[in-house]
Formats: sequence, C-alpha cells, structure tokens
Amino acid sequence: MSLEQAKQAFVAAVGREHVFDDDYALARAAAATFATTQRILAIVRPASTDEVRACVIAARQHGVSLYAVSGGKNWGLGSRVPPRDAQVLLDLGRMKQIVELDETLAFVTLEPGVTFQELHDHLRAKAPALFASTTGSSPHGSVIGNTLERGDGAGPYGDRANHVCALEVVLGTGEVVRTGFARFPSAKAAALHRFGVGPALDGLFSQSGLGIVTRMTLWLTPRPRSLHAVRFSIVDAGRLGPLVDALRVLRLEGTLRSVIGLWNDYRVLSTRGQYPWQLTGNRTPLPRSLLAELASEWGNATWFGATAIYAASAELGRAARAEVERVLAPLVDDLVFDERAGAHGSGREPFADADPALSFAQGIPHEASLRSVYWRKRFAVPDEIDPDRDRCGVVWLCPVLPLAGADVGEAAAFVESAMLEHGFEPMIAMVAQSERCLYLMPLLLYDRDVEGEDERAMACHDALFAELAARGYFPYRLGIHSMQALPASFGDYDAVMSRLEHALDPAGVIAPGRYSKSK
Ligand SMILES: Cc1cc2nc3c(=O)[nH]c(=O)nc-3n(C[C@H](O)[C@H](O)[C@H](O)COP(=O)(O)OP(=O)(O)OC[C@H]3O[C@@H](n4cnc5c(N)ncnc54)[C@H](O)[C@@H]3O)c2cc1C
Repeated sequence: MSLEQAKQAFVAAVGREHVFDDDYALARAAAATFATTQRILAIVRPASTDEVRACVIAARQHGVSLYAVSGGKNWGLGSRVPPRDAQVLLDLGRMKQIVELDETLAFVTLEPGVTFQELHDHLRAKAPALFASTTGSSPHGSVIGNTLERGDGAGPYGDRANHVCALEVVLGTGEVVRTGFARFPSAKAAALHRFGVGPALDGLFSQSGLGIVTRMTLWLTPRPRSLHAVRFSIVDAGRLGPLVDALRVLRLEGTLRSVIGLWNDYRVLSTRGQYPWQLTGNRTPLPRSLLAELASEWGNATWFGATAIYAASAELGRAARAEVERVLAPLVDDLVFDERAGAHGSGREPFADADPALSFAQGIPHEASLRSVYWRKRFAVPDEIDPDRDRCGVVWLCPVLPLAGADVGEAAAFVESAMLEHGFEPMIAMVAQSERCLYLMPLLLYDRDVEGEDERAMACHDALFAELAARGYFPYRLGIHSMQALPASFGDYDAVMSRLEHALDPAGVIAPGRYSKSK
C-alpha cells in the first residue's frame, strides 16, 4: 500500500480542498456510538460519478480500500466507521443532485448526498401532491444510504428498498453499471420498472461491498386526500400476541397498507425525557417496579401502536377506519383515530402537524425519536444532535420475526428480561414492515462516559444476538459490531458469494468486511 501516493491521486481526482487527513477530522470520523478501534486513513469527498470512479481506480492502483458513506448517520450501527481497520472514507455528501422528478409517474432520481430533509423540501416546492417515505432517524441522513441498508420508514412505501430501481453503481474495477432498464439509454420505463429484463442486479448492491451507488430512482407516494392517524395501546402485555395476529390480517387483506409501529413503555418513556435519576436514586437500570410509578401518566399502557390509513377520499378512509375499529377495538385498551382531510394537489402541505406520528406518516422528517439517544446523559439534549460527538451509547439489534403473535410475544418477553438482567432498560421498537414480517428492534441506550458501559452494552448485544439467532430470528441488517456474527450459511452460499466478490472487486477495494466473510 502506498497511502501517500493514493492521497496525491485523490487530490488530483477531487481537488485538495476535498481531501482531509488532519488528526481532528480523522478522529471525529472514527468515533461511533460504541467502542471502536478502526482507524480512518483519509477522508475524500468526490462530487460526481466520474470523481468516484477516479477515486476507485486510484485506490486500486495504490492498494488502499474505500468505505463509502452518504449521510454518515448510521447511528447505533457504526456511524461512519468502517467494519475493518485502515480504510479511506469516501464521503458522498457533496453529490446532491436531484436529477429528475416526475410528478405524473411519481418518482425521483437522486444522488447519494441528498438528505431526507432536502428531498422533503424539494417535493414540497416542486411536487406537493407527492411524498417520500422518511425514517425515524435524522432528517440529515441520506435517502440512498438508508435505502442501501434496507432501512425502515413510514407509509405505504415504508419498505423503501422495494420501491427503488435504476441504480448507477461504480464497481471495484472502476466499471460503471446501471441496473434494470436503465442500462438502455432510450428505455422509457427505466425509472418505472423494478428489474428490467434478464437477471436483476439491484440486490447485489444493497448491504454489500460490491459497489458504490452513485444514483438511484425512488418511487413516491401520492398524498392521500384523507389521512387517519391510528393509535392504540394495551395495558396487559399478554394481549400483544392476539393484537399482532389481528394486525397481520388487516395488512394481508389490504385494509391497512402502511407500516405499523409498536413501541414498548420503556421506549416511549425514552422519547418523553431523560433518565429519571432522582426516582432511581442514581441507579440503573430502571426496574419495572419504578417504571410503574411513572406509568399512570400514560394510563399504565405497556405497548403502544401507531399506523395510518391512507385513502383517496373521505368515504374510503372512513370505511377502512370502521373495519380497523371493528377488528382492533376488542383487542386494545385505547384506540384513537385522528382524521385529517386535505386539499390534495392544491400546492399546500395538506396535513402539516406538530405531532411526530402524523409528521412521520406523511414523510415529514423530524428528530423526536432521535433525541432519545441522550436518555442516560447527564446534560440536556443539545440543539444539534450528534451522538458520536457527545459520547451517547447507542447499539441496535435488528432481528426479523414472522408477523405472528406467538413469535412476537415470546421474543419480546425474552428481550425484555435479558436486557434488564444485563443492566439496560429494554427499549423495544417493532415495525410490521410488510404483510408477513416484523422487525423487532431492541435498542441499547447508555452513557459512554460511564466506565465499563461500552463493554457491558456489547456483551448484552452479543448475548441477545446469539440467543435470537438460535431461536431462528436473524437480523435484517447488521452493524459494524455484528458483521461477523452470522453463522455459516447452508450449502454453497458463502463460496458463491466469495466468487461474486472476487469477480466484481478483485482487488478488494470497496468496503472490506462489510456484510462479507471472505472479503
Ligand atoms: C434513535 C434512532 C432512530 C433511528 N430510526 C431509524 C429508522 O426509523 N429507520 C432506519 O432505517 N434507521 C433508523 N436509524 C438508524 C440510522 O440512523 C439510519 O438508518 C440512517 O438513515 C443511516 O444513516 P445515513 O442515511 O446517513 O446512511 P449512511 O451512514 O450514509 O449509510 C449507511 C451505510 O450504507 C453504506 N452506504 C452508504 N452510501 C453508500 C453508497 N452510496 N454506496 C454503497 N454503500 C453505501 C455504507 O456502508 C454506510 O455505512 C435510527 C437510529 C437511531 C439512533
């Protein structure tokens, strides 16, 4: 490896002012929300596909590897830190073009630096009748970065990775490919058809080190004329299983077309304020017995659910609402509908609302959930949220469960007792991401300034990961802390994947260690 020569080549590719190697910048970029030891050798900020390509060729020539980030807000899963030591960070944040927006066919083609907030602002100005599914994470996260991780969002297109096509990708060889019909410059359905014709390559480039994505088309949702926010809660956690089974039926038959969120009481508490140090006499974790003292504030509910009904008319919305009410009312202790009727296509934001649940449902980015990363910090949540800088401890696990009451009830009960035993409040968010699957997302929140907490948190993560996998619940997504935690695959999967990696990136230039055992 010749790092100095590589840096000179990066400077030639992107300009001196876009290559950073000062200690402060490198240390900031190497900080995550849990303990890491990986060093970043330099930060390079290309502004175009050609510049990305030039960086890849330079990296290959001089024997260095590149780790691409788009927004770099992958908090709780590794932030900007590469899975392996000594990589150059390729920060795509300058690639901010919104290349095409089509109001009629409801799609947008964009570059990796475009954030959720920027896309939202653009749609508001240029196509107010459409919205993009957003996340519960930072408004400054990247739409492409999140989608490549197959991140979860809100609304009918909350499973965002299933609503994208026409990727442009720079491979480790320096070659550039466009997927689906986008490989034919004259194809009229390039932005409209998921797979094109022939083998579909798109899947190779999410959750992988097989290429750097420089462009993507994302499908948009028409703003509904009628929107009902639906909220419900249960007091007895034993009711969770039957509730989940009923939600599956509503999703499968199409009465509910949107992602459904389920949060436990600990997770809700973490978004309402910081840790109750006084109540606990400065001890952690917060036991259920003390949580019960706070629970009267929210009617003693243990699980809270939220979703939305999207309809093209008030009549359709009310019909769906009546069905949801008929099914859910006997199964929950509280059920609230909040109906908004808007002026669809009038050029106004139809349902702007300060309520985060309603904002989320309409693709309006907000930081309500994100503030909880300061849960156990001893200082107030700052104006500018930055958990890497502020040493907030955040670790996610992301197991996938069948959308079935028995699985969800059992796994949630296991996670709750195991996290408490390890000394952490069992923050659990669940997302019924599709008609058949649910993401169960235990969240470890702690203070990295407390000695030993980093180690205790990772021990808890590792124990949960192993036990959930042993029960058949594998993660839909990994962090840099869990990249190597999966067991060996059945049959020849690992060998075939290794050959693909070698074919697409023979020198191992792109993101070694990312979702890979062999590269
Ligand atoms: C409190 C809290 C709430 C959260 N809520 C959510 C949520 O609701 N939904 C959700 O999905 N996540 C959530 N997250 C996790 C995370 O913050 C988001 O997923 C965030 O969007 C990821 O950061 P980013 O979009 O900036 O992507 P990046 O950090 O830029 O990218 C993520 C990873 O993808 C790869 N990558 C990025 N760009 C490229 C590219 N162009 N080519 C190839 N590979 C690339 C990189 O390896 C990178 O590390 C939450 C986190 C916290 C702490």
